[in-house]
Amino acid sequence: MTYLDANATEPVRPAALAAALAALQAVGNPSSVHAAGRAARRVLEDARERLAARFGAAPADLVFTSGGTEADAWAIAAFGRGRRLIVGATEHDAVRAAATGAAVLPVDGQGIADLDALRRLLAEGAPALVCLMLANNETGTIQPVAQAAALCRDAGALLHVDAVQAAGRIPLDPAALHADSIALSSHKLGGPPGAGALLLGPRAAGIITPLIAGGGQERGRRGGTPPLPAIAGFAAAAIEATGAAALSGLRDAIEQAAVAAGAVVIGAGAPRLPNTTCLALPGVRAETQVIALDLEGVAVSAGAACSSGKVARSHVLDAMGLGALAGEAIRISLPWSATAADVAAFARAYPRVAARLSRAGH
Ligand code: PLP
Repeated sequence: MTYLDANATEPVRPAALAAALAALQAVGNPSSVHAAGRAARRVLEDARERLAARFGAAPADLVFTSGGTEADAWAIAAFGRGRRLIVGATEHDAVRAAATGAAVLPVDGQGIADLDALRRLLAEGAPALVCLMLANNETGTIQPVAQAAALCRDAGALLHVDAVQAAGRIPLDPAALHADSIALSSHKLGGPPGAGALLLGPRAAGIITPLIAGGGQERGRRGGTPPLPAIAGFAAAAIEATGAAALSGLRDAIEQAAVAAGAVVIGAGAPRLPNTTCLALPGVRAETQVIALDLEGVAVSAGAACSSGKVARSHVLDAMGLGALAGEAIRISLPWSATAADVAAFARAYPRVAARLSRAGH
């Protein structure tokens, strides 16, 4: 199989697998006072320190979660209390579902947030919580987060940044972004699923309240026994995930092959993640393309795959004003392990599939 669906989940990195297995084989709860508990506590705090150092944060400002969804939901619950919510139109459902009643910040045809609209929305009333992702999961579009942060600061608003797809692929510098909170996810950078983190800026660290109360773990901020294997693997993966720039050449080759076969690249004019491309094939439903490519041994995705496995129409591409193309676009996302052989497999399969489906008028 040629796996080109890294934005759904990355293959586990060998160092992450080794760290997770080692943690799984050791017994001990980090809250226990005996030697086994203290050893487990060292694994937890070592992972926290390494992750914090990797992302330029202080260890005390990194709180572990079960993944990106929990980190997003937590930030919105904790920092949105008593504030108006303003949410980017192309945010992941992890944010959209938690931010009910939010004002929507529009994007342009490349998927980039409209900062003039943000300025206007911020001026409309009470202090706000703004949610703006660093990089989009479907198109790879990178948002002007630092500029948005400056507007938020001037307006007394808080800013939550979903960096789930960006972390490990492009530079992530919390100090430069000036975000109040940042969501991370282990399995999107080559760690095991089941761990994530919320990075807290100084304002957020002072006001955070638990989403999940319990036994006082994470300094009383997040209850529950931490999943050490996932957390140890998360840290090991993050150390290895030093950027996806090397994948941009492979991504460009995929785009060339697809465009030659009739595809349109969505969001090509925006700064994008180096591993991601969104390709529309006019007149052919996205779901049909995904199934046809799967039969050729190439794994890609379409729009937002829901948990039912069905493909929902993409709110991201709709927000970009793509019309019918919004239902005809697939996402190719190269994993850290991608090689030229993967590109060659795609370049063999795609033109065949495109020609057949276009002829059949799907
Ligand atoms: N945010 C973005 C941008 C995502 O792409 C995803 C997963 O697809 C999430 C959040 C949710 O992360 P997790 O799967 O770790 O809950």
